[in-house]
Amino acid sequence: MASKIFQPISFIFLIFILLAPIGHAKRSTPSDKKSSSLDSFKKLKGCHKGNHTKEIHKLKAYLEQFGYLNYPNKTHATDDDFDDILESALKTYQKNYHIKPSGIVDDATISKLITPRCGVPDIVNGTNYMQPRGKKHKSSSSNIHTVSHYSFFDGNPKWPSTKTHLTYRFLSNVPSYAINPVASAFQKWESSTHFTFAQVQTNQNSDLEIGFFRGNHGDGIQNAFDEKSIAHASAPPGGRFHYDEDDKWSVEPAADAFHLESVALHEIGHLLGLGHSLVNAAIMYPTFSHGEVKNLDADDIAGIIALYNH
Ligand SMILES: [Zn+2]
Repeated sequence: MASKIFQPISFIFLIFILLAPIGHAKRSTPSDKKSSSLDSFKKLKGCHKGNHTKEIHKLKAYLEQFGYLNYPNKTHATDDDFDDILESALKTYQKNYHIKPSGIVDDATISKLITPRCGVPDIVNGTNYMQPRGKKHKSSSSNIHTVSHYSFFDGNPKWPSTKTHLTYRFLSNVPSYAINPVASAFQKWESSTHFTFAQVQTNQNSDLEIGFFRGNHGDGIQNAFDEKSIAHASAPPGGRFHYDEDDKWSVEPAADAFHLESVALHEIGHLLGLGHSLVNAAIMYPTFSHGEVKNLDADDIAGIIALYNH
């Protein structure tokens, strides 16, 4: 009798053990490491122009990494002086993230600074907002006041008009549980754009490649992984899309992990030529929180149409 009860219980337990690792990266502590590093931004609460505080150089490094700061004199890029250039850059950052552009490091600004994000810069040299750079981006036939806020990479790089079928391959370091979420993301882009995608074998040539990496892996993409970014991708025709293997990833939404498919949708947008969007609901919005699930938005589709129709 006891063994009859024990067997189903142990079987269920065994299934649980087998399923538990699926959908989660093996590492257990990197997110803690990342969040503790970003916590230094909290020490800047209330800082503004004229202040001199120990952590200000970290704010400068962050804003420079994501395109907001470009000091002509590099010695100021690493000091702790809250100068005019930093104030201007911070205001641009605040505008892009719908925060009152006070130039003061307030709670709303800190909250956004510590949110995990894509490693691709928002803007170039701090000279513009995340605004559309295409010319034919607005629908003149609509009476409804809808504003698109997608953007493109500097110079509007895109795939040639004849290149609508793109192949992709998974590098050998991609865990098997990530294959289906990425493939699903490609299918979603395929159903909403003029592109078609097909997976090829790891050892075959492809237009696009997906990998898992950590730290500065010398992939030529502008920013290597650090405590701020969770994934990144290159503009056309670069074709490289990398997850940070130091983060926790999940197939299904999970409170302690990033959603593989949602982040894949975002990075594929970069592979096709989209930059970051101001629209919160857009897949091309730069930040991702644990458990956050997103889909393609009208803003994302409008961006692709604008990029490839002019
Ligand atoms: Zn991005």
